[in-house]
Amino acid sequence: RTYNDSSSFSKLLVVFTVSGGGLLAYADANSTSPIAPPEIKKKRVVVLGTGWAGTSFLKQLDNPSYDVQVISPRNYFAFTPLLPSVTVGTVEPRSIVEPIRNIVKKKNVDVHYWEAECFKIDSQSKKVHCRSNKNIDGKGKEEFVVDYDYLVIAMGARPNTFNTPGVVEHCNFLKEVEDAQKIRRSVIDAFEKASLPSLSDEERQKMLHFVVVGGGPTGVEFAAELHDFVKEDLVKLYPAAGKYVKITLLEAADHILTMFDKRITEFAEDKFKRDGIDVKLGSMVIKVSDKEISTKGRVNGQVSTMPYGMVVWSTGIGTDPVVKDFMKQVGQETRRVLATDEWLRVEGTDSIYALGDCATINQRRVMEDISSIFKKADKENSGTLTVKQLQAVVDDICERYPQVDLYLKTKKLRNIADLLKDDSKSSVAISIEELKTALKEVDAQVKNLPATAQVAAQQGAYLAKCFNRMEEAEKNPEGPLRFRGEGRHRFHPFRYKHFGQFAPLGGEQTAAQLPGDWVSIGHSTQWLWYSVYASKLVSWRTRSLVVTDWVKRFIFGRDSSSI
Ligand code: FAD
Repeated sequence: RTYNDSSSFSKLLVVFTVSGGGLLAYADANSTSPIAPPEIKKKRVVVLGTGWAGTSFLKQLDNPSYDVQVISPRNYFAFTPLLPSVTVGTVEPRSIVEPIRNIVKKKNVDVHYWEAECFKIDSQSKKVHCRSNKNIDGKGKEEFVVDYDYLVIAMGARPNTFNTPGVVEHCNFLKEVEDAQKIRRSVIDAFEKASLPSLSDEERQKMLHFVVVGGGPTGVEFAAELHDFVKEDLVKLYPAAGKYVKITLLEAADHILTMFDKRITEFAEDKFKRDGIDVKLGSMVIKVSDKEISTKGRVNGQVSTMPYGMVVWSTGIGTDPVVKDFMKQVGQETRRVLATDEWLRVEGTDSIYALGDCATINQRRVMEDISSIFKKADKENSGTLTVKQLQAVVDDICERYPQVDLYLKTKKLRNIADLLKDDSKSSVAISIEELKTALKEVDAQVKNLPATAQVAAQQGAYLAKCFNRMEEAEKNPEGPLRFRGEGRHRFHPFRYKHFGQFAPLGGEQTAAQLPGDWVSIGHSTQWLWYSVYASKLVSWRTRSLVVTDWVKRFIFGRDSSSI
């Protein structure tokens, strides 16, 4: 810029010159602020969802070159692992939520939040169509369209009902904070109703029959929490009602907690038996009416019906209709879940990412690649490999796909890993077929990353790091761009680190399965659970509220008022 006119010139302060004289910075004498350089258009990033994946992405994103718009019907983040505790009042709902504006306000990145839900993703014109969830002065719910350069889909999933008749109409779900509050009210209402003077025994039994459908971690934890609430608090307050209470847990598989080690499953089943929780295994729910729930035995096909007072449905997750519609647009209509590559980019797109419960990494290409490495080794080494050659093959795979390294450490592959470490066995040959069979385990494991908060949070953090370094990667193709190639991305693929899993079983006992197949069950594990969950809470505010709730519960018991 040149300034010929003297009045303009008088306004100028030449503040500094950088050695070499290349850069001049100017400041307006009246405004005291530097004259803004020509505006560089920021890339627009739209994030759908404020759950584990979306929030983790937003927390870690620190590159100011993005203009971020967050769209979610929920203006807060909810710490879902403590939802079962909210259903019985061990923890208050407000203690486990943090306003999203609190989470994003300290960022040096421009972040705007809109309380609305996305009802359509238009990947052709790079727009998302949104609807506010509030009625505005009789004009109804406002609809608006947001453009994006990059879209991050972190919309989670919805409860899976397997299209079982009557589930949506008559069952409670346990997915959101509101669900947990509703369950808490329903439990206390059931006790109040059952205490009314004019009821028959049969009616009281029906009202106080609580049915939990699904023997996964959430269903089991809820059943355990409910049992503790009844035993430790409600029976004391409603002494006459105690003898009518029954908790039934229905599970279609042969065991509960099937994703855990057998020792945990057995302990949980035994404990529930001792606690009087009726665990019905191999029972598939086929229908729910307003009064009864019908099940069919998986083995004998026998249909039975039981009256209930309240049902909580917790049988896993299904795909959101908005995501389903988007899957059609990107040629994924035949898939059950939205598929991404190992860089979390939606297959068939180049600027849309999906993470958390709404997506799954499609490892087909990984396995095809691994398979081709084997084929090559097979051809070169006529069917057998020395340990040295095996090491070369495995190194090659791990270099391309670091996540495989993790699975080499799992139990089934340990013999191969041990072989690799043992120099004395350097002459031992292993057949390619043997290796292939062992690596089928890799296939099974990498395909099925669990739908957990742990995975969602790690994916959000991974993607934010990629976004933070996007410019650097473009400028420095020899560095992070190493992985770029046809169909590839700029960064190392996402690699999940498993830190273990808890299953609270009630009575101040928890089971934990930690990496390396380390299992711990009992009261001491419950303290580990308290400390891990307290440390994982999203802010010091929620941390102190939750710890206070726990202390309150220890001293005064749970609050049984129905508000
Ligand atoms: P969510 O956390 O579900 O977030 C989805 C977000 O998308 C929400 O903000 C939602 O409002 C928003 N959204 C929905 N629809 C739209 C739309 N149309 N437009 C815009 N935004 C939308 N995992 C563990 O690892 N450990 C545990 O102990 C554990 N316990 C659990 C207990 C319970 C009761 C439940 C329900 C889950 C538990 N999980 C646990 C699983 C964990 O909560 C999920 O895996 C995790 O929430 C997935 O994160 P997400 O970001 O994909 O989805």
